[in-house]
Amino acid sequence: MEAAEGGVCGVKVMCRFRPLNEAERSRGDKNIPKFNGEDTVVGKPYVFDQVFPPTTEQVQVYDTCAKQIVRDVLGGYNGTIFAYGQTSSGKTHTMEGTLHDPHQMGIIPRISRDIFDHIYSMDENLEFHIKVSYFEIYLDKIRDLLDVSKTNLAVHEDKNRVPFVKGCTERFVSSPEEVMDVIDEGKANRHVAVTNMNEHSSRSHSIFLINIKQENVETEMKLSGKLYLVDLAGSEKVSKTGAEGAVLDEAKNINKSLSALGNVIAALSEGTKTHVPYRDSKMTRILQDSLGGNCRTTIIICCSPSVYNEAETKSTLMFGQRYG
Ligand code: ADP
Ligand code: MG
Repeated sequence: MEAAEGGVCGVKVMCRFRPLNEAERSRGDKNIPKFNGEDTVVGKPYVFDQVFPPTTEQVQVYDTCAKQIVRDVLGGYNGTIFAYGQTSSGKTHTMEGTLHDPHQMGIIPRISRDIFDHIYSMDENLEFHIKVSYFEIYLDKIRDLLDVSKTNLAVHEDKNRVPFVKGCTERFVSSPEEVMDVIDEGKANRHVAVTNMNEHSSRSHSIFLINIKQENVETEMKLSGKLYLVDLAGSEKVSKTGAEGAVLDEAKNINKSLSALGNVIAALSEGTKTHVPYRDSKMTRILQDSLGGNCRTTIIICCSPSVYNEAETKSTLMFGQRYG
């Protein structure tokens, strides 16, 4: 597997393999990918901006995938970081990790720490207002994870045609600990709302939004940027013969929204297309002003290394290759 220089049109695609898990090891599963210059994964070379082998630490993933985006958002740009992959491939580990563990925490808690470190080090003439929201999209319905009574929110546009989720809870935060509290609260609400959290999280997209506004009180100069952090629904194919009823509806819905996302990113990375199909799904409508163009977009393709998941891994890698 190779690493390529730079992404196309601001879209960077990274690929992370998790280690074999307990079940895979005890079954004696073989590892499929090989690293260190051998072009690998199941017989075909795939090219990414960066490839992370299973030994990669959370901090390395943060430094490579998120650190610069945080700087840019503090500089007034918008951005989005996605984790894409089949269920159990490491998406939540990558985005959230173990929240209160400094070593194992993922991208979102590291971002919160980094933002406040930055603010504390800044000129005291700068006033920061940081708001976060936390919601999920399940069966194309937007559910507020900070207010369980809001189960079907709509996407609207403000007077500048900037899309937003109307009525979604926004929390002002003034320390990394407060951001963690909001995440804990959202996760607790999500647990209450569903019977099987693992199943549910594999079928819904969870979206954490950080909105940063700053003003220089002396010059009155204003700057704002926002960052969407998206833990996508599992990309695995549901077998057409096995699934029926509600499960099949869910699967179709997930496929539709993931392919709508894929089409938008493909159109953006081609750069020549005048039509970017943002309106094909709720998620792409929401992300419209935070994807492509002047925005910072990173997709982290998450994969299992086990030969047992070979077919899914291939299709996951192919999703990432469309933009390489
Ligand atoms: P997903 O969100 O894609 O369904 P998870 O992030 O929940 O997958 O990962 C599945 C399991 O594998 C979890 O127990 C997680 O802690 C573990 N895991 C995932 N990635 C890694 C990694 N890079 N290192 C160690 N454990 C990992
Ligand atoms: Mg998950």
